[in-house]
Amino acid sequence: MRTIVVGGGVVGLSLAYGLLKAGQPVLVLDGSDGDFRASRGNFGLVWVQGKGADFPPYARWTRTSAKLWSGFAKELEELTNLKLSYENKGGVEYCFSAQEMKERKAELSALRDKLDGDYPFEMLSAEQLKKKIPQIGPKVYGASYCPEDSHVNPLSLLRALSQAVRMLGGDIRTNIRVMEIIPGENQAELITENSERFVADRLVLAAGLGAQALGPQLGFKALVRPQQGQVLITEKMPHFLDHPSGTLRQVNEGGVQIGASKAEVGLNDHEDVLTTASLAAHAADVFPMLANAQIVRSWAALRVMSPDGYPIYQRSDKHHYAWFVTCHSGITLAAAHCELLPRWIMSKNDAPDLSPFSEARF
Ligand SMILES: Cc1cc2nc3c(=O)[nH]c(=O)nc-3n(C[C@H](O)[C@H](O)[C@H](O)COP(=O)(O)OP(=O)(O)OC[C@H]3O[C@@H](n4cnc5c(N)ncnc54)[C@H](O)[C@@H]3O)c2cc1C
Repeated sequence: MRTIVVGGGVVGLSLAYGLLKAGQPVLVLDGSDGDFRASRGNFGLVWVQGKGADFPPYARWTRTSAKLWSGFAKELEELTNLKLSYENKGGVEYCFSAQEMKERKAELSALRDKLDGDYPFEMLSAEQLKKKIPQIGPKVYGASYCPEDSHVNPLSLLRALSQAVRMLGGDIRTNIRVMEIIPGENQAELITENSERFVADRLVLAAGLGAQALGPQLGFKALVRPQQGQVLITEKMPHFLDHPSGTLRQVNEGGVQIGASKAEVGLNDHEDVLTTASLAAHAADVFPMLANAQIVRSWAALRVMSPDGYPIYQRSDKHHYAWFVTCHSGITLAAAHCELLPRWIMSKNDAPDLSPFSEARF
């Protein structure tokens, strides 16, 4: 049975690669460069710290994926001969006051309690933090540290995934915009912008923001919305930063990536000077030496957000051959989407329990 995956971003490709590894033929239909594509504009974190603070199933799912990441990266690199620049030395979140430290500690401790004590983190004073990151400036009061946080080059990941899909015999058709889905009893017909027709015995909708239009045609609520994030990157600098944070990381080429803002501005993916300035000011607060660094690139991209910010994994109630998959942390969850999601799609006995992530919660 061939699976058609609509959407060739990191979510669709991670799943497609996993399905192929499980011996399932896959065709990926992906839109065009004019589409909003979070997978090409994100921050590259594989992030655990603080995720799912008020929704433990998400905290567990995130950690499951983070734990799978090393093996996933190694396997992808070996298969494709491409370097992902995956680094897993743990991540920090900077605090600028005693109050912020207190609140962070309380939040992470509460999460640890909800996870029966199994949630590694440490609170580091400025002095302790300086041992890990000597360049922090005097405004930094301390940080939380989580050994399970890591980061990757997200564009290398995307490239490796599409190469891996093709190497395992999968087909990726680009510049194919699915406009209409006509559901039948046991299969669906997909009609593209160019009036091409495809028939799917198994259909996974992983089209990011494109799901807004396609989802309801299969009976999904598909409540996703755009949330803008802006990112900056500095000129290349000698390596100094081993530990990423939610706002600062040194990429494998040497630049320091700064971001990402959060703004509810609809389908607007343009940067603005005020946001750029506030991101840059934060970076210089943490690392005063960055005040003299040149910003060489900035961009905005749109996150794919569900109403509560958590992933949606939903099999259609009406059309048993159709699934809807979306999340706002597709880099972090790529390993789980590759290794575990296919088992759920194939209804295997050892499939993960994804019921907390169904659309019934909306
Ligand atoms: C600024 C920013 C920072 C982020 N930082 C992180 C981070 O550090 N860590 C992390 O884990 N996540 C991060 N994310 C989130 C992450 O990028 C997304 O979760 C992920 O990229 C979503 O992937 P996707 O495949 O669902 O969507 P997309 O990448 O948007 O891909 C959707 C694909 O579907 C295609 N498509 C759409 N409609 C159709 C159609 N009708 N027919 C055919 N194809 C269609 C599009 O062409 C596109 O290729 C960040 C996002 C942003 C914007």
